[in-house]
Amino acid sequence: MVQVMTQPEQVRHFTRERARSGETVGVVPTMGALHQGHLALVREAKRRADAVVVTVFVNPTQFGPGEDFDKYPRNLERDTELAAEAGAALVFAPEADVMYPRGEQTRVQVGGLSSTLCGRCRPDHFEGVATIVAKLFNVFGEGIYVFGRKDYQQLRIIERMAEDLLFPVQVVGHPLVRDDDGLALSSRNQYLSDDARRRALSIPRSLQAANAAYLAGERQVGRLREMVRGALTRSGVAIDYAALADVDSLREHEDVEQLGGRTLLAIAGRVGGTRLIDNMVLGEDEPPIVEPQA
Ligand code: AMP
Repeated sequence: MVQVMTQPEQVRHFTRERARSGETVGVVPTMGALHQGHLALVREAKRRADAVVVTVFVNPTQFGPGEDFDKYPRNLERDTELAAEAGAALVFAPEADVMYPRGEQTRVQVGGLSSTLCGRCRPDHFEGVATIVAKLFNVFGEGIYVFGRKDYQQLRIIERMAEDLLFPVQVVGHPLVRDDDGLALSSRNQYLSDDARRRALSIPRSLQAANAAYLAGERQVGRLREMVRGALTRSGVAIDYAALADVDSLREHEDVEQLGGRTLLAIAGRVGGTRLIDNMVLGEDEPPIVEPQA
């Protein structure tokens, strides 16, 4: 039976009891509206830890003004069922005033890694993410925390923060999970009309094409970026960025550069008002498989 808790003290009791019986705890932080991408993380946590917790919290501080905080899909009952089916023992679903007590003033900032890619378009986003994840680390303590590589930059920031602040945690990244048509699974895909979804498929399709060019020997940043940008623009995706970045530092390469080391191709774009992100490490990650455009 899955338990649902809303208070950090209840969670601490749960983790203490588990530790006493020699069990490890795995934690999967989410904003809910669970899909198969989240559930793959839960199963990964279950492989690595004895008891798995899913947290469901739509974190207000990581949304900017005018973003979709109010309309973000919320369905705790369904999320609890899905988390239980995937093997979770506990769902932690706190109210906002528990995670942000009245009068709160503290934020966690991770330097350079937060300033590139999504950091350029969503200025305070990663500060909100780092802050809430630091709070979750403090609520659950020692454990194995699983995050998806769908949010590659977020994962790198959390890894950095965990190391910098000496949190006694193990951070694990799980590969990005795609829907059957190739689109990266996201709670925000619910917002897409059929037409928007068709257009959104140009995102994974352009990753697939750029990866094929990379494998055929293309290393010029400008040419790879142009391939991606052209495909997205033709499908009516409003591009926030299409960038080639170093997998560790996330420094974005200039168009005139030739790729040397391991490279992340990361895309963020808006389709019919919905912001979508996707990425892959060129030549390493499983490329998306997407039908050619009709
Ligand atoms: P979210 O609920 O969108 O904040 O995501 C919660 C966690 O699930 C994050 O670690 C995400 O990276 C991960 N996640 C979301 N979608 C996917 C996906 N399609 N594949 C892998 N991980 C995902």
